[in-house]
Formats: sequence, C-alpha cells, structure tokens
Amino acid sequence: MEVRFFPGALVARNIFSSLKTKMSLFLQLSDPVSKVRGVGPRYLKYLNKLGIKTIKDLLWHFPFRYEDFSQIKKIKDLQPDEICSLIVTITKVNLRRSFRKKMFIIEAKASDDTGTIDIIWFNQLYLIKAIPPGTTLSLSGKVKVKGKKLILSSPSFEIISSQRLDEDFFENLKHTGRLVPIYPETEGLSSRAFRYFIKPLLNISLNLSEYLPDFLLRKYHLLPLKTALNQIHFPVSLALSQKAKERFIFESLLFSQLYLLKTKKKVSLLPYPKIKLDIEFLKSFVKALPFSLTEAQRKSLWEIAKNLNNQLMNRLLEGEVGSGKTVIALAASLLSLNSQYQVAFMAPTEILARQHFEKFKSFTKNYKAKIALLTSSETKIYDQEFDSSTSLTINPEQSRRIEGNISKRALNKIINSYLPIIVIGTHALIQKNIHFNKLGLVIVDEQHRFGVEQRKKLLSPNAITKEVPHLLSLTATPIPRTLALVFYGDMDLSILDELPQERKKVITKVVPPKDKEKVYQFIRKEVKKGRQVFVICPRIEENEISPLAFSAKNLISLAEKINYEVKAVKKEYKKLSEDIFSDLKVNMLHGKMKSQEKEKIMKQFQENKINILVSTSVVEVGIDIPNATVMVIEGAEHFGLAQLHQFRGRVGRFKYQSYCFLFTESSSKTIYSRLESLVKYNDGFKLAEIDLSLRGPGEFLGTKQSGIPDLLMGSLLNKEMIEEVHQVAQNLLLEDYNLKKWPLFSTAFKDFIKQTRQS
Ligand code: ADP
Ligand code: MG
Repeated sequence: MEVRFFPGALVARNIFSSLKTKMSLFLQLSDPVSKVRGVGPRYLKYLNKLGIKTIKDLLWHFPFRYEDFSQIKKIKDLQPDEICSLIVTITKVNLRRSFRKKMFIIEAKASDDTGTIDIIWFNQLYLIKAIPPGTTLSLSGKVKVKGKKLILSSPSFEIISSQRLDEDFFENLKHTGRLVPIYPETEGLSSRAFRYFIKPLLNISLNLSEYLPDFLLRKYHLLPLKTALNQIHFPVSLALSQKAKERFIFESLLFSQLYLLKTKKKVSLLPYPKIKLDIEFLKSFVKALPFSLTEAQRKSLWEIAKNLNNQLMNRLLEGEVGSGKTVIALAASLLSLNSQYQVAFMAPTEILARQHFEKFKSFTKNYKAKIALLTSSETKIYDQEFDSSTSLTINPEQSRRIEGNISKRALNKIINSYLPIIVIGTHALIQKNIHFNKLGLVIVDEQHRFGVEQRKKLLSPNAITKEVPHLLSLTATPIPRTLALVFYGDMDLSILDELPQERKKVITKVVPPKDKEKVYQFIRKEVKKGRQVFVICPRIEENEISPLAFSAKNLISLAEKINYEVKAVKKEYKKLSEDIFSDLKVNMLHGKMKSQEKEKIMKQFQENKINILVSTSVVEVGIDIPNATVMVIEGAEHFGLAQLHQFRGRVGRFKYQSYCFLFTESSSKTIYSRLESLVKYNDGFKLAEIDLSLRGPGEFLGTKQSGIPDLLMGSLLNKEMIEEVHQVAQNLLLEDYNLKKWPLFSTAFKDFIKQTRQS
C-alpha cells in the first residue's frame, strides 16, 4: 500500500516544484511585492506603509532578533521553563470560553512516542478546524508548569502532517524547530506573516547575483549575498546570523561612504569665489584680538583660510559652547570682504543674530567692514562715516563708525549691489526679496536648525559668475569622528576641542529628590547676590509613549511632543512661581509661544529683569547670559550627556563661579553613574563618546535622524569598521571613480542612491 502511495506523492511534488521554478523565472528583485505568494490587497497595504514595495524591499526587511527554538525535545525530557520544540500529534482539541475574561480558550492534548502534553491557545478559533486530532505539528515555545503538569501556552506551531519528515524537513520549518526570526512589530504584519512571505522566496531561484566585488568578500570574509540573505532570515546559528548582518552593514556603510565621497568630490569641482589667502591680514587680525587664540582656533582658522582660497568650502566647525567659534567665523568673513565678496551669517533666532552682530561690531573697530543686521523686526547697518582708504585696516582715530537703522528696502539695495558687506540675520535672510549679488561665504549657526532647502537657497550659484558660495557650518554638538564620517562625510571638519583657558569649571552635582530643597535654598542665595537661574524641564522620550518606536502608528508626532513639554514647563513654572519662589521673578519659555513673545522674554532675562527662567529644552543654545550662574535640569536622565553638557555651557560664561544641578527621580545605579560622568568630565567630546557608547547611536542622535536603518544604527559603535570602510570607499574611487570595473556593484550602488533619495 505504502509503496503505491509514495510514488504518486513524489510525482505530485515534482510537478509542484517544477511549477514553482517556472513561476520563479518571472520573479525579479525589482518586481512588485504583490507578486509574492500570499500577498493580497490587505497585506499589500500594510507592506507599502512600511515602505516595502518590491521583492527586494521585502528581502531586505531584516529581523531584529531570533527566537531560539532549535532544541528539539521529546515530551518525557521536558523541563519547566525551558524553550524548546516538539514534534507531536494532536489527540484532542476542545473549545472553552472564559466568561470572566471574555476569551476563547483552545485546549489541546498532544503526544509523541514518549508522552502526552497539554497545550492552550487563546482566541484563535480557527485552530479547532485547522488542527483536528491526527494532525502532526511542530511546536515551539516555553514549557510552563500548571498544577503538577507541564503545559505549553500559546506555542508557535507549524502543521506538518502533509509533509514528509525527510532530511530537508527541518530546514524548511519557518516558525518552529529552529532559530526563528522576529521582525519589528508593525500594524497588520506579524512576524509569522513575514516568515510566511520570505521563506519560500529564499528557496526559489530568485536572481540573487553577488554584486560586491570578489576581492572585498575575500578580504573582509563577508558572506556571499545568497548565503547572507538566507542566514539573516533563517540562520543555522546565531554566529552565522551575525556574519550575515555584518555583510549587510558593510555594504550599506560602503555605499553611503561612496555616496558622500562622490558628493564631496562633485562639490569641490564647482566654481567658487576665490578668497585671497592674506596671511599678513590674518596675523594682524589675530594680534589685535583682546585674547590669544587657542591652538585649536589657530588650526581651524588656518584650515578655513586655505580652503576658501583653493576650492569650494563645505565645512563643519565643531566646538562646544564657549569654544570660540564666532571669532573664527568673523575672520573668515573679513577675508571674504577683503576679496570683495559678501557674507551671509544666518542664526536660528533674532537674539542670537543680534548677539553675533554686536560681537562682530566690537571686534571690527579697526576694520573697514560694513555689517548689517537683518531680522523680521529690525534692520540695522554699521559702517564708517566716510570711506576713503582702500585698505581693510583703518585707523580708528581718523574714522568714525556709525550705526543706524535702515529701511529693509535700502538694505536690500545694498545687498543687491556688488558692495562687500556682512549681513547677519535670521530666516529673514532667505526671504524671496533678498538677493545677494556677490555672495562669497555663507555661515550657518547651529546647522541642524535649518532645513536642507533653506540652506540650498543661500547656496545657489551666482546667476552671472556661476560661483557657489562657500559654506561654513557652526555646531556646538560634539560629534565623534566616526559619526561625523557617517553623517557628514561630504563635509570637511574643523574641530575646536579646547576651551579658552581662563574659564572656570562649572560645579556639577547630581541631586536626588531629598536634596532638592537644599538646592532651592542655594538658588535663593545666588539670586540675592544678583545672579540668575535657568531651570530646564524634562523632554519627552519616544519610548515613554510606546516601546515600539518603529511602528508608524505609534510614532509620536512633534506636535504631541511639544504639547507634552509645554505641559511640563507650565507645571514647573506654577510650582516655582507660586510655591517655592513666590517672592522672586520667575518666568517661562516654551515652544508654543510666538517667537516675538519668546524673544521678549529672552531679552528681559538678558537685562536681568527675570531671576529664574523655566524653559523647555528647545531654548536657544548659544545665548550669552553672563550673569546666569545656576543651571537646574529637571529629569536629567531623559537627556543625553552631550546635551546636558550643552545646557551646562550656558552658565559659567563670565567671572562668577557657576553651578549645574542635575535633578533625577531615578534611583537606578546605571543612570546615576551616567550622570556622574558630567561631574567627572568637562570635555564635550569625551562626554559625547561616553554617551554614544552607553545609549547607542539612536538615542545619541535623537529623533531627527531616526530615518537611518536599524542595521546601520547598530554599526555606528564599531569605529574600526567605519574607518576601514571609509578607506575602502576611498580606494575604490581611486581605482575607478565611476565604478565601471564592477558593473553589478555599480548598479547596486545606483539603487542605493535612489532609495536614499526617496527616504
Ligand atoms: P561659541 O563657540 O559658543 O560660539 P563664542 O565664540 O561665543 O563661543 O565665544 C565665547 C566667548 O569667549 C566670547 O566672549 C569670545 O569673545 C570669547 N573667546 C573666544 N575665543 C577666546 C580665546 N581664545 N580666549 C579667550 N576668550 C575667547
Ligand atoms: Mg556661538
């Protein structure tokens, strides 16, 4: 009987598999995901929502962990709490209703040749029909104890009675009996669904030609594409899944490095304003400063001056609060004026723009420099009364500098001419009616505040000369070199990694709730001395709202975030102004206020009309309140170290001893020791490194960058790999800039760029 049965089954199987092969001939990685078996309109909608449009997108949707169900056991050997798999036959299935919890409970009994075990599932009514007695199942899950018996509760299962237990049986399992992939949770798409779609795709002869050059695979011991895809989804061992992951990390890092390096090269070839490298002038400028530059400032200034002279600059000047970026920006501006070019200096707020304007004025008394301020509420110009000499340096005794209001139209006329001028301003600088006619240098303060589009506007080429202005971006966020390679690899870096000498160290303390009162008393004393205080309220973190940061549904919107923070500030403000410091002048600042209102309060604070300013974390970085000596941060554990360090940088900017109090309700040792790093270290770069290694790149970079793939995120801690891949990218371009030597690689690279552009 059996002999007659099997050949028939075999024939059927062969026909089926040849059918499958035929079907697969039509499947390409670029095919729409709707061609995948089982993907109907409903799943298609959910997949599209995740950005999965093609078969390639689906295959490149990687699991983030694995459930280890690889231990196949016999029932008699089961131990409580172990995670394992069983091959069993169902002997009984019942449906029970739990009225209290309003649930359907499926109770089953199953056995193998060594014993019997009870199984329960909840609310999966279809199981009654799907696994009638006699069904053979592969089950995986955790063994639990109920009373005296062992049971399996909601195990994963696969029906296998229609399959043969031949040698590739275990290999073909998707949900049980192996390392089972778990995918990021998303609406409408369980891990089970992903396994169901992906597993068959990997078995058919999809065209998965290797595109990484052979010598790279060998040199870096990378798994070939097909193996890597198989092992990342359905690994034979965790070690192999890790190897697979490494291959994909390597390739996406490599592609992104190539992209950045190519962009950098392209930019460097554009026509640029040639700024004279006037060493004599630089020397006299540095000499005339009321202080001597730090070594880091000298080095950066030199890098910038050379760059302005020899190719288009696209440079990030990194240095924490107080490291002295402004003087460097000023020197670069004066060099540009010297070569008859205009300069636009864009700051994120009116107060900061005005502050820069004042700084520039005070440092340019000896120079013939026109400086204008342009914000939506004021336009001013600072110039000398008469303009007789042609040299940039002037004798202050012989010339009077004047400052005055000017109409926007008049200023615009000047800007529109070819007159060299430094215009400092806010977004007003990129309004439609402002046209620079000879823009040589654009300086952007706190670059991340400006969108790409806004920067593009200022950096568009001159209509006549086609010259693209140089860009100098100032940022107070200390970004470790490896991260900078990944995120700003198209830019050159200048780093101010030392502070001017004489600054006093801010005394920093981590404060548990019981010591808050002492701090409040201390604050009162400082205010009595005439000092001022910042209180920063905690920010909201995504994972407080939902552990599933990657689920589109659960992603918290910026609006919600602002609402939450505004609430926190209002509450804190009420507490401080009505209870604790009812006799002092307390005010608040938050993201929901109109910008005019914000500016007004900042101004009052600057003029010491407010003692204590309660604010969200969005308050302007970089603002100078020399009189502020106390920085209190509520819920300090919600911030990264680098950010806390930035807050701290807002006090201690003048001769007074200053203090930073990190409030935390948390009693966790890990959190405490993380915060203690601020007590220990005063170096922004050091703190950034610690932050990065403790919290991981996702947290470190904050929400804005969360667009980068998970996989890449994880790799950002691997410094050696990033440096290595950076080198590989450079070498490849050196060998063949257009990558024509490696056609498949080149195509894959183009694909990558297309994808990057879309997201
Ligand atoms: P930031 O990098 O935060 O923009 P600033 O450029 O505003 O820092 O500099 C902070 C303060 O330090 C300013 O008052 C500036 O004039 C001063 N400063 C800059 N460089 C030096 C230096 N080398 N020695 C002493 N003071 C300096
Ligand atoms: Mg600054």
